[in-house]
Amino acid sequence: MGSVNESTHYDVMVVGAGAAGIVAAIQAGRAGARTMLVERTGLPGGTTTTGGVNFPGLFHAWGHQVIAGIGWELVSRCVTETGGTLPDFANYRCPHWHHQILVNPFIYAALCDEALLDAGVDVLFHAMIAEVKPQTEDAGWHVTICTKGGLSSRTARVVIDATGDANLAAMAGLPVRLREENQPATLCCQASGYNLAELDIDAINRAFDIEVRAGRLAYTDASWNTAGPDVGSWLKKGGSNASHIHRINAHDSEGRTQLELEARRSLLRLFRFLRRQAGLEDLTIQQAAPECGVRETATIIGKRTVAVEDYQSGRVWDDAVCYSFYPLDLHMPSDGGLKCEPLSEGVVPTVPRGALLPRGSRNFLVAGRCLSSDRLANSALRVQATCMATGQAAGAMAALGASAGIDPEDLPVGDVHALLRKHGAIVPLLKHGRVEDGWSLNSESRRHLQGLDSRLDENEQ
Ligand SMILES: Cc1cc2nc3c(=O)[nH]c(=O)nc-3n(C[C@H](O)[C@H](O)[C@H](O)COP(=O)(O)OP(=O)(O)OC[C@H]3O[C@@H](n4cnc5c(N)ncnc54)[C@H](O)[C@@H]3O)c2cc1C
Repeated sequence: MGSVNESTHYDVMVVGAGAAGIVAAIQAGRAGARTMLVERTGLPGGTTTTGGVNFPGLFHAWGHQVIAGIGWELVSRCVTETGGTLPDFANYRCPHWHHQILVNPFIYAALCDEALLDAGVDVLFHAMIAEVKPQTEDAGWHVTICTKGGLSSRTARVVIDATGDANLAAMAGLPVRLREENQPATLCCQASGYNLAELDIDAINRAFDIEVRAGRLAYTDASWNTAGPDVGSWLKKGGSNASHIHRINAHDSEGRTQLELEARRSLLRLFRFLRRQAGLEDLTIQQAAPECGVRETATIIGKRTVAVEDYQSGRVWDDAVCYSFYPLDLHMPSDGGLKCEPLSEGVVPTVPRGALLPRGSRNFLVAGRCLSSDRLANSALRVQATCMATGQAAGAMAALGASAGIDPEDLPVGDVHALLRKHGAIVPLLKHGRVEDGWSLNSESRRHLQGLDSRLDENEQ
């Protein structure tokens, strides 16, 4: 078992075993780096498992696969092992969520365990980072971990912050962007014990409205809508991804605690209300995610920052390491609770290496939703397939950098792409480390799209 051995020095240390961190650690391990993965909870998956968001996406754009590699391998293996079926990706004229892939959280976590151990990764659960300090002479990082047995020290040539909250970057004194307002969080659950077709939804909404006006409930206990009652949407979804908890920044333990308390309070008051309604007397919460799902907290201030204009135009960065694909998807406390804006047909955005490198850092990478991006770009970049792709890119750069003694920023982009391709990833088309000359922004992304089929052929070789 790859629990922590006597070794105290690692080539690569990954902190956080969410969508990004799992893939980063597996990639680094498969590339031959001595790798450690430290995780606060008892299972891998992060928001996918402990947050109950077990529907990763999007791996496909406009009928083509644009994200593959280790994340795709884990997700598609989970579907195969559980006898599920993949969506019809060729039909892209459907709502984007039809292309998200339902995974069984337990099997998914167990498959991640298996892949991590097979890659030779030393995994430490139930542990958090207490301190991270640069070693002298550019030798990497000294990391103090808080374990059940007390504080424990390790060194690592390269560290990867995959905490979702940029916790490690902040602890290392690197610049982090905390916003005044964050997207709301959601406690995902599964409710049962009622027959939707037999319910009088209008009557339930009227009773709900009276409770909200009396200050005993909030509209967002039962839907994303802040303007009026919509209990029907919660009942239709069986409580999955159907409510909003606003105005709590959960980037630290205090914020996280406030959020968990408010999320459970919100679900409890809704549960009590629903059980008093005709037809809902037997309603039960079969399952609730162990943790409230967090959409947004902090991002790093990187050497490059993806702005919404970059995302929407499909900018191909000259240091692009992966693609990303999702509508802008900003959950809000007003205007119906959601701004969802699809990309123009043919556009496939890319993610630059510089967005994974905190400004002023050396031998330090981030992966996942805390990458450097403005708020609207982050509303799309935060999704799981993109987190996985950034994780694989960070893992590859960390392994290459550690073995060559080179800061990830100084690695030739071609070397990074070559390693990623070897491990099944799809990388943006660059020529000699630069975007091919003469591409305007729109034709650029169209050319990319046309090249994806040949890119896939290359990946398969
Ligand atoms: C309600 C909701 C709905 C969503 N809907 C979708 C959707 O439909 N499709 C989609 O693809 N995405 C969706 N997302 C977004 C997506 O799930 C997340 O943004 C993504 O999973 C984040 O992955 P991550 O690896 O960056 O971070 P996380 O999943 O947050 O993982 C971070 C990991 O780091 C650990 N950690 C944190 N701090 C420390 C520390 N100090 N020391 C050690 N470990 C630490 C955490 O325990 C966690 O396991 C949704 C998110 C939410 C909340």
